[in-house]
Amino acid sequence: MGAAATLHLPVLPLAQPGPPASAKGSAVRRSFSEGGSSTSGGEFAKALREHGLAPLVRARVTTLQVNVGKFCNMACHHCHVEAGPKRTEMMPRQVAERVVTLLEQNPGVEIVDLTGGAPELNPNFRWLVRQIRRLDRRIIDRCNLTVLFEPGMEDLAEFLAAHEVHIVASLPCYQAENVEKQRGRGAFEKSIAALKRLNVLGYGQPGSALELDLVYNPLGAFLPPPQAALEANYKEELARLFGIEFRQLLTITNMPIKRFADFLERTGKLEAYMGLLVNHFNPATVPELMCRSLLSVAWNGTLHDCDFNQMLDIALGASSTTGARTIWDMTSLEALTGCRVATGSHCFGCTAGAGSSCGGALR
Ligand code: SF4
Ligand code: SF4
Repeated sequence: MGAAATLHLPVLPLAQPGPPASAKGSAVRRSFSEGGSSTSGGEFAKALREHGLAPLVRARVTTLQVNVGKFCNMACHHCHVEAGPKRTEMMPRQVAERVVTLLEQNPGVEIVDLTGGAPELNPNFRWLVRQIRRLDRRIIDRCNLTVLFEPGMEDLAEFLAAHEVHIVASLPCYQAENVEKQRGRGAFEKSIAALKRLNVLGYGQPGSALELDLVYNPLGAFLPPPQAALEANYKEELARLFGIEFRQLLTITNMPIKRFADFLERTGKLEAYMGLLVNHFNPATVPELMCRSLLSVAWNGTLHDCDFNQMLDIALGASSTTGARTIWDMTSLEALTGCRVATGSHCFGCTAGAGSSCGGALR
């Protein structure tokens, strides 16, 4: 492509990427008014009902997403965790041990997705990684890249490689200005240096077992562009500018909660953004929603249907039928299959356009 002319990530018009015309239905023009969460009511549940998709129920749990705490070396503008250097919430060893026990009891859980904050800064992170690998489960580390340059993290990249940890790393653009607008001064240079270091270790190289994926999320109140086209841009530009390689790009929609919701509110864009998400409700994304196959564990052991619900203190939908509120209330995760997911207005962030999940676009 003509590189310089097309480098800037597009600020998409509200209609792109659009759902099939039939998907828009009466959700279009509906003003956003839902608050809180629900397993039966609210605008999101109504949208599901209108498409014959209600209630939203769980399939088998195949991923345990463990949020080990809110401490982070960064404080990004869009962060749904409101993580930062001043946060003190950290998963203690006692909870980490219970996570391992739950994995032992549930061989059907294939992937453990470690998130935060910066998960690597939790003092129990490496212990947890070793235990999970002992159980032969795959591990995802949601890495902000700059953490590789924090004190005490000098050997982190080698540790992750030695344990074949799949790295999913945030990089909202391949241009410094855009990255630093969202993630703070100095973030771009460190991110590029971290990616080069990971490449040297074999991460992201063709044929390597060391998986390296990048995450794009929009720099403003718009939906991500089509994932495949953006991935092609990223691959071309990161290779051309820095010689960096990676496996795939995951596009994730900004959730209208916490820091991003505050930003939208401050700039008078909250209602328009919610309208955008609601108007682009795409029923084809619903069967693939991550909350159907993922269980989210908080730093203190509470259980949730996803990390977003966790940050909103929305209890696991299944808690009303199974009584399972914390990691100590569960033994077999099979008990969750068929249980309802607790949804709320923020769920429109997962179903807009091509859909969004921790694994990127859904359709
Ligand atoms: S988005 Fe990630 S790197 Fe940024 S503050 Fe939140 S947890 Fe930290
Ligand atoms: S926010 Fe997304 S993943 Fe979480 S419960 Fe709602 S639809 Fe599911």
